[in-house]
Amino acid sequence: MHTITLIPGDGIGPEISGAMCRVVESTGIEIKWEKVEAGADVMEKYGTPLPEYVLKSVRRNKVAIKGPITTPVGTGFRSVNVALRKELDLYACLRPVFSLEGVKTRFKNIDLVIVRENTEDLYAGIERMIDEDTAESIKRITRGASERIAKFAFNYAVKEDRKKVTAVHKANIMKYSDGLFLECVKKIAEDYPKIEFEDRIVDNMCMQLVQKPELYDVLVCPNLYGDIISDLCAGLVGGLGIAPGANIGGECAVFEPVHGSAPKYAGQNKVNPTAIILSSVLMLKYIGEEDAASKVLNATTAVIKEKKNVTYDLGGTAGTSEMADAIIKKIVG
Ligand code: NAD
Repeated sequence: MHTITLIPGDGIGPEISGAMCRVVESTGIEIKWEKVEAGADVMEKYGTPLPEYVLKSVRRNKVAIKGPITTPVGTGFRSVNVALRKELDLYACLRPVFSLEGVKTRFKNIDLVIVRENTEDLYAGIERMIDEDTAESIKRITRGASERIAKFAFNYAVKEDRKKVTAVHKANIMKYSDGLFLECVKKIAEDYPKIEFEDRIVDNMCMQLVQKPELYDVLVCPNLYGDIISDLCAGLVGGLGIAPGANIGGECAVFEPVHGSAPKYAGQNKVNPTAIILSSVLMLKYIGEEDAASKVLNATTAVIKEKKNVTYDLGGTAGTSEMADAIIKKIVG
């Protein structure tokens, strides 16, 4: 029996999480969801959007899956998502991007993985107002975190039989911070002679990705570039509705879709549950349930290929729960 922490999130979070739980349960594996809430809704009661019991639950179970959580813009509490990654030291963000048959896109046969450093860079929240007209954010990059993410990317490449790792940076301008990141990845690359290594400046990388995405395999990026490139790549294969993700640390892992809480669609049974369902595939592999992972992946890709029971973003008219029902039907046969 696996006990998994479930953070449903807000906005469209509860709908897609509910759909994902039903799909995972239909594989027949023994699973118990430990449901905990975080975000604006618990802020009033606990004085924080990320109460200690949420962290305790993930630390105890070692594995969590979460829906998106809204972050207020400009003012208000800091992102729960960023805080969770930081508190649990989930230093590696893994975002696989692959073409799905049945999804209309400009490219076919895209199969790349973004490995994003998750704990530092401009996301560390070191910022201040110098005076009322001047704001400052500090971009901190450390050798420890850069070498750690580089090792993760190369180990991942070896394990998943990938051929090439590309480091993404802007070391021509940010010579110290991005320069250090690049230096660290280059050093780690020497320990993996069978994996090809190259680097790209981030602006050129973006252009290359929209022109020749098939040239890339594993991309290793500092936090901010990784965030932006993940959405760009999600767009290449059909949008945020189908982009899964994982945040992995030495002790625990939290699986979540790349997309946010899309508040305008909340409660409408409208959005695509695929991103969180594919995140559950990553989770099932992580906990050693390879068969269940294959069942969920095959059923989801089959439903998308048929185009009959898909949501609006994939050109269909099915709701969130109807799409999940169609996936379950394929799993249970
Ligand atoms: P978003 O990803 O929520 O939505 C952008 C657009 O993408 C939506 O309007 C919709 O058209 C589309 N979309 C997103 N998910 C979809 C799905 N499952 N199916 C179909 N279409 C989908 O991005 P946003 O509007 O910039 O952010 C909304 C809130 O979510 C913000 O508060 C942001 O901070 C938060 N957010 C949270 C996470 C997280 O919890 N990890 C990640 C990103 C954004």
